[in-house]
Amino acid sequence: MRRTKTWETYQEAQLQEVEKIAAGYRDFLNAGKTERECIKETVRLAEAAGYRNIETLQAEGKTVSAGDKVYAVGMKKTIALFMMGSEPMENGMRILGAHIDSPRLDVKQNPLYEDTGIAYLDTHYYGGIKKYQWVTVPLALHGVVAAKDGTVTEICIGEDESDPVLFISDLLIHLSAEQLEKKARVVIEGEGLDVVVGSRPAEGKKDESGEEKEAKDAVKSAVLKLLKDRYGMEEEDFLSAELEVVPAAKARDCGLDRSMIMAYGQDDRVCAYTSLLAQLETEPQTATCCTLLVDKEEIGSVGATGMQSRFFENTVAELMNLAGQYSELALRRCLGRSRMLSSDVSAGYDPMFAAAFEKKNAAYLGKGLVLNKFTGARGKSGSNDANAEYIGRIRGCFDKHDVAFQTAELGKVDVGGGGTIAYISALYGMEVIDSGVAVLNMHAPQEVTSKADVYEAVLGYKAFLKEA
Ligand code: MN
Ligand code: MN
Repeated sequence: MRRTKTWETYQEAQLQEVEKIAAGYRDFLNAGKTERECIKETVRLAEAAGYRNIETLQAEGKTVSAGDKVYAVGMKKTIALFMMGSEPMENGMRILGAHIDSPRLDVKQNPLYEDTGIAYLDTHYYGGIKKYQWVTVPLALHGVVAAKDGTVTEICIGEDESDPVLFISDLLIHLSAEQLEKKARVVIEGEGLDVVVGSRPAEGKKDESGEEKEAKDAVKSAVLKLLKDRYGMEEEDFLSAELEVVPAAKARDCGLDRSMIMAYGQDDRVCAYTSLLAQLETEPQTATCCTLLVDKEEIGSVGATGMQSRFFENTVAELMNLAGQYSELALRRCLGRSRMLSSDVSAGYDPMFAAAFEKKNAAYLGKGLVLNKFTGARGKSGSNDANAEYIGRIRGCFDKHDVAFQTAELGKVDVGGGGTIAYISALYGMEVIDSGVAVLNMHAPQEVTSKADVYEAVLGYKAFLKEA
């Protein structure tokens, strides 16, 4: 079967490029630990590369033509970037799609309480997690608080060296005999993922006799005062907040040989970043090139900012309108004739858990970009199943551009499964295949990728934009 070489064949110039891309990727991961932060960083990078907001162009009454670079943001959580081709859009686009939401703990709408002198924020986890992995690690709080008057305050606590961090407690081993008899899925339960945020009571008030009275919920009161002083936030404002609890660490080189990257949220920011980089560094083509970064993949691509939303279709319609190319039929043709790489991470083969994989059809760290013909579970259920002809075309494109790639399934048949956004884009009738980067510890607080695979992903996505 196909052998893919990466590290073994890299020359000095390539090794430098590998490190350069890895450095940019680590910065991207550190700048974007939530979907909102990822959008901000993406817009910053896109504008620096000459992309302009579609709303600005519309307000200025501008039109767009070949070579123009345009982006559109949906609700601060999803973005589509376009580089106009010289051919009419109805001939179809080349689309790179990835998601920028990651598993995490979301703070509930009525979260703050005190129990026995400790103040907690109650959470509801988002996406698939092994709950026991989230205890006793340093956590950070990211997000926004929207007040009734429309002001939105951004919060980020736990990332700066001087910031405090938060945590979820676990039971000490000395008292855990009973806990350790439980099934792993309930060792830590969903309602057990409450985050410790304080332990210092507010100063008590003196009564008439001058005696100090301990206030009820004095620790919670002190936390509320702190939130008020620092963020102008009332307890009720939690009702309209989106606060995400994420691991409080920065992306790091990993391994004695520095061959890997360890970081939170690489599913799927590794594909988001490499797609974005390919888009920003590719010169205009005959076909319109697009990178689409969506939210909510981890919970089924639902909502206004998920792949199932009409955001993308509406944006393409607006763009065609600006290009003087819009008609309902032209829009349908544009979407139906597009080709897409639905880029999402693959499960990296893990020798420590070999029983979960089928070795001939697994993705290996450091063996290049992964193509998944299908995903799904229980007999491919829920999968887009890419057409053979399309895979042939992609193989040809990757081989021509010397992209190391491998093909894989997500684990052994019937061991489990998963899905991506591919089947949703496929609804338009476009050709789409899952591609991406192999990850170890997927969905854990710290995930691991190979720098070689990150590099090959950029090469692969550039090759795709050029001539898939
Ligand atoms: Mn994913
Ligand atoms: Mn995932």
